[in-house]
Amino acid sequence: MERISWDQYFMAQSHLLALRSTCTRLMVGATIVRDKRIIAGGYNGSVSGSVHCIDDGCYVIDGHCVRTVHAEANALLQCAKFGVPTDNADIYVTHYPCLQCCKQIIQSGIKTVYYAEDYRNHEYAIQLFNEAGVTTKKVELDYLAVDTKYQEKNKFVKTLIDELEHTSNDYHTVEKLKNEAEKLFTSSK
Ligand SMILES: [Zn+2]
Ligand SMILES: [Zn+2]
Repeated sequence: MERISWDQYFMAQSHLLALRSTCTRLMVGATIVRDKRIIAGGYNGSVSGSVHCIDDGCYVIDGHCVRTVHAEANALLQCAKFGVPTDNADIYVTHYPCLQCCKQIIQSGIKTVYYAEDYRNHEYAIQLFNEAGVTTKKVELDYLAVDTKYQEKNKFVKTLIDELEHTSNDYHTVEKLKNEAEKLFTSSK
């Protein structure tokens, strides 16, 4: 059994957090890490106690849902609420931060932003991160690393392909499926 890397471990945590999002437009998760320890997590959702987008629909102004506090902001505010320093910390986010979150991340003293997916990466956000000396690094989530049924699935698909190889006369199709399956079960990290 291979041990999951730190990057994958923290990124997986952010993807897990994103599943708690209450906004239907985009599900985002953020994990703040210091000295390889998770110190806070957040997802995009309404202010505590208020209605959720998933129940009442998004509150859209100028193409943006204004109901939610963004995942990064929620994670930072959790630190503020409980008095946890964020200076020199890192943040793992499912999507490249928006301009507002970018500024908040810089102001809170975070040094590295790991993001899994590009998302309307704002030119000014990129500039601000550069000016502030905040490093941004793309870390795509390797789903295989967090799929506990991975071995069984891989074995099952191999059995199916073997069966096909013995029963089908269409060599090209079988070969194609075989390659696709191999790609699917090859780790991307
Ligand atoms: Zn919404
Ligand atoms: Zn944001």
